[in-house]
Amino acid sequence: MSSTMADVERGPETGRKTLPGPILLLGAPGAGKGTQAKELVKLWGIPQISTGDLLRAHVAQGTALGKAAKDVIARGILVPDSVVNEMVAGRLKEPDTARGYILDGFPRTLPQATWLDSRLAGQGEALPVIAVSLHVDYNQLLRRITGRRNCPVCQRIYNVYSNPPRQEGFCDVEGAALVQRADDTEEVFAERMRAYTAQTAPVVEHYRAHGRFAEVDGDGTIAAIAAGIVAAVGRLRK
Ligand code: AMP
Repeated sequence: MSSTMADVERGPETGRKTLPGPILLLGAPGAGKGTQAKELVKLWGIPQISTGDLLRAHVAQGTALGKAAKDVIARGILVPDSVVNEMVAGRLKEPDTARGYILDGFPRTLPQATWLDSRLAGQGEALPVIAVSLHVDYNQLLRRITGRRNCPVCQRIYNVYSNPPRQEGFCDVEGAALVQRADDTEEVFAERMRAYTAQTAPVVEHYRAHGRFAEVDGDGTIAAIAAGIVAAVGRLRK
């Protein structure tokens, strides 16, 4: 029998309420990490921590970190581990992370994974991390990345091919003109995929070998993929 959201909340054997704890969403650019993280936020009421979003906020605010990161992001390569780790450490100190959190786009390198593992190991009572890797094939990723548009006001994610807004170019809810990320072009996507294969694929193997790990098919409706993640987390939290 497959696990459900209710199992995760209650804890299937004990009837006690089980917290989701720290969840890592892994997957190539365009695999749907951000979209799924937002679904899990709605279900579990724990925050999404997207290192890409945090970095883009620094860029938008023109901080020193943002100025340094802007060009790196535009090229599709990775921001140095020390910078990202420090940013995540700051975010994890916020009280809203106490019941758990969804890390979206972190860790992306083995040193980031080791840093996170030792940080969590140092917090005796924290639940062990669950890593979920979303699998989507290359052509589908390319379509998702080049078709992706975001609402700059509410951050809703659309896709001109598979999930278009009712009025072309405008958010259904806010009415704001949708924007395309500067790194969502075919050229930068190729570079991001190179970074993923060289630096992030080993992170997936790290958690597959050593952690509570599940691979979920990232091709399907948003609801069906979310149900797959919830079932996997329910199984792995037992
Ligand atoms: P994302 O929004 O997750 O696709 O991230 C956009 C870009 O931000 C990436 O291509 C990287 O340049 C940078 N970035 C995001 N997360 C990380 C991370 N964990 N480590 C290094 N760079 C990152």
